[in-house]
Amino acid sequence: MKKVIVIGGGIVGISTSIWLQRAGHKVTIIDRGVALDRASYGNGGVLASSAIVPVNVPGLMRKAPGMLLNPGQPLFVKWSYLPKLAPWLMRYISHCRPEETLRIAAALNAIIGDSLQDHQLLAGGTPAARRIRPSDYVFIYDDKAHYDSDASSWSVRRSLGFEWDELQGDAWKAHDPVFSPDLKFAACLKNHGMIDDPGAYLEDLTDYFVKQGGQVLKGEADDVVHENRAVSGVRIGGETIPANAVVIAGGAWSAGLTRKLGLNIPLESERGYHLELWEPNMMPRGPVMIVGGKFVVTPMEGRLRVAGIVEFGGLKKPPSKAPFSLLRNSIRAALPGLTWKRETRWMGHRPAPADSIPLIGEVPGLAGAYLGFGHHHVGLTGGPRTGQLLAQLISGNRPNIDLSPYAPARFA
Ligand SMILES: Cc1cc2nc3c(=O)[nH]c(=O)nc-3n(C[C@H](O)[C@H](O)[C@H](O)COP(=O)(O)OP(=O)(O)OC[C@H]3O[C@@H](n4cnc5c(N)ncnc54)[C@H](O)[C@@H]3O)c2cc1C
Repeated sequence: MKKVIVIGGGIVGISTSIWLQRAGHKVTIIDRGVALDRASYGNGGVLASSAIVPVNVPGLMRKAPGMLLNPGQPLFVKWSYLPKLAPWLMRYISHCRPEETLRIAAALNAIIGDSLQDHQLLAGGTPAARRIRPSDYVFIYDDKAHYDSDASSWSVRRSLGFEWDELQGDAWKAHDPVFSPDLKFAACLKNHGMIDDPGAYLEDLTDYFVKQGGQVLKGEADDVVHENRAVSGVRIGGETIPANAVVIAGGAWSAGLTRKLGLNIPLESERGYHLELWEPNMMPRGPVMIVGGKFVVTPMEGRLRVAGIVEFGGLKKPPSKAPFSLLRNSIRAALPGLTWKRETRWMGHRPAPADSIPLIGEVPGLAGAYLGFGHHHVGLTGGPRTGQLLAQLISGNRPNIDLSPYAPARFA
């Protein structure tokens, strides 16, 4: 039995903690305790197993400048942040190559490909289980030509074993009649799922963890303490809490802590936004991705959540207004006649490593220090499997997948 501290109480941190607890370890989570700050609170709620194609694909550089100059496109930048962003951006762009897309997709597939089952395993027998809904995941296109223009993404999915139904005309209308007739084509993938309230799901999992004997400390973890190249604790509020192992699962804020351990990880926040439309007069039957606007629409408990947008602007600047207007206009166009009673808005930080592959594994040269962050657009989907892998590593068991693609050593 080890004493393990997990820094960060988002979906990656709580999944890791529960799996560690089940393996017999004594676990403490240190978290700032602000639910709304977590990406795990405001995400689209989709268990998006097929979302294995990264954002930094070939052709991105051709499209991005035009998108940035058009407020009707879902890519924004806070221009004053550009000098700070530049080094990360150069590395990010360097991965826009076909062979990199395949490498990244394979790495993501191994941790998100069975997400529904991974969540059922994590939450089964806990109050959180009621928030998991098996569903299809539907990618909606303007028309067949639009879908064909995305053929390279679909060929990556096919190469990794995904299958889907192509729906158009009456078949698509019969599948889900709420969408605009201007959206004429859909690719429907089975065996996906969604969480009907991601914030409540996290709370339920955390309550379960505490009831099983876990501890949650509210505060800022300042540093990982180590002696003789081995972890000995975590510094918080001038005090050191002893531990045999520490997991850094601080989402988009993780790079500050890893820098102190000698790892300079190129990690950015891909700021994302959601609008919640409460008591809507219509709902799609399951989660969908509107490909043209690059946003998801998820029927959650009592409201429709519309989530998407990538904005570069770092961790400190306040939310912008334009992304909310864009989401509102886009959902009105996608679901004509949609009305709602009230609206809530949220902005959060996707943790994005420059190579789009999450960091999962031990810090080289520092026994007992582990990383679990960097899941960009798919952290809800991949959190449970990541937590299971970290718990296996910390318990001295060899996971049944090759962990080298996720190794922190690639940034040593
Ligand atoms: C708009 C939007 C839509 C999305 N949609 C989806 C989706 O549909 N499906 C999907 O799979 N993913 C989606 N994502 C991505 C997903 O939400 C994230 O990848 C995931 O939530 C990251 O989880 P995490 O646990 O790493 O980080 P977080 O949830 O951000 O949690 C990190 C926690 O660590 C704490 N912390 C950090 N540093 C410290 C410190 N030093 N001391 C104490 N506490 C610390 C923070 O306060 C925070 O509570 C979306 C994201 C956004 C923004």
